Amino acid sequence: MGAETQRFEKEFAAFTGAKHAFAVSSCTAALHIAHTALGAKPGAQIILPSLTFIATVNTVLATGAAPVFADVESLDNWCISARTVESLLSPNTVGLVVVHYAGYPANMTDIVELCKERNLYLIEDCAHSPGAYWKGVHTGRFGQFGCFSFFSNKNMTTGEGGMIITDDDELAKKAQLLRSHGMTTMTWQRHKGHASSYDVIELGYNYRIDEIRSALGIVQLSKIAESNKRRAKLVAEYRKRLINVPNLFIPFAEHPGQSSYHLFPVLLNSEIDRDSIIDRMKEKRIQTGVHYPAAHLFTYMRSRLGTKEGLLPLTEKIAKSVLTLPLFPDMKIEHVEMVVGALTELLSK
Ligand SMILES: *Cc1c(COP(=O)(O)O)cnc(C)c1O
Repeated sequence: MGAETQRFEKEFAAFTGAKHAFAVSSCTAALHIAHTALGAKPGAQIILPSLTFIATVNTVLATGAAPVFADVESLDNWCISARTVESLLSPNTVGLVVVHYAGYPANMTDIVELCKERNLYLIEDCAHSPGAYWKGVHTGRFGQFGCFSFFSNKNMTTGEGGMIITDDDELAKKAQLLRSHGMTTMTWQRHKGHASSYDVIELGYNYRIDEIRSALGIVQLSKIAESNKRRAKLVAEYRKRLINVPNLFIPFAEHPGQSSYHLFPVLLNSEIDRDSIIDRMKEKRIQTGVHYPAAHLFTYMRSRLGTKEGLLPLTEKIAKSVLTLPLFPDMKIEHVEMVVGALTELLSK
């Protein structure tokens, strides 16, 4: 956590407009810090999506609090919304986690209003959304904390890594303590001779990033606006070419936010056997993915939380038939055409 990390944090804060930014070892670490700093504990309920990577859920469970799963807004908008959250509120609800799925911001106007009205804390899981904005404001700035991932397959990467942002000075101090063992001084300060001893005033962890990753992050950050633009262009090309392909629906057609285009997911008709499409695409040397299996239906969640099929009709429908198509900044239009050609052939049969 030396000069490179401090520069990375300063530049990431400037990029998002946040007052504080702390680089961490992963988005999972950032989410755990966020819930812990906000006081999540056994007995508390936290509302979150099921159509997400499992870290969104596990970091709630790690605090002893209970995750409560909300469905997505619609077949077109695969984020949770104030409407889908509202019916789940209970006297034990303390907070909410929003995921800007695939890089498309959730409707933060309504969600912020609901959180204020009901006195709930708000954490944004921004693993998909560096460079994504809602009404001109960067994602991660609407609640108490925004948590970003720099894992290898995200829009910007340090191999492993993450960032936590906040505008709140008190929460910033807590986040900093939790990142490094609850210790009052940092290795860097001691190294510079500014401090020789320290106290421990919180239960903290080693969630630090290192200088090598931060150096990578600085360069990655300088490229993200350009690479997101490239992703936007590729998604537009996909959309144009997929219009007449049968048995396929493309979400986020009329999205009002500015996306970071992390993923390009499509929804197959429910009668289509997705696994066989994935295999056939693979035979054509095209890798596809599934984002995501419904979190509430994993074995661990079923046994710990008692969740089962039927809880979230839209999420379950999407999880069963979503197919993520290749999307990366260096992708060429010919690649898009190749993917569309392969899908057209497989889905027209
Ligand atoms: C990747 C991802 C995470 C976890 O990020 P790590 O940096 O790998 O810990 C959390 N939430 C979502 C939605 C993700 O896609």
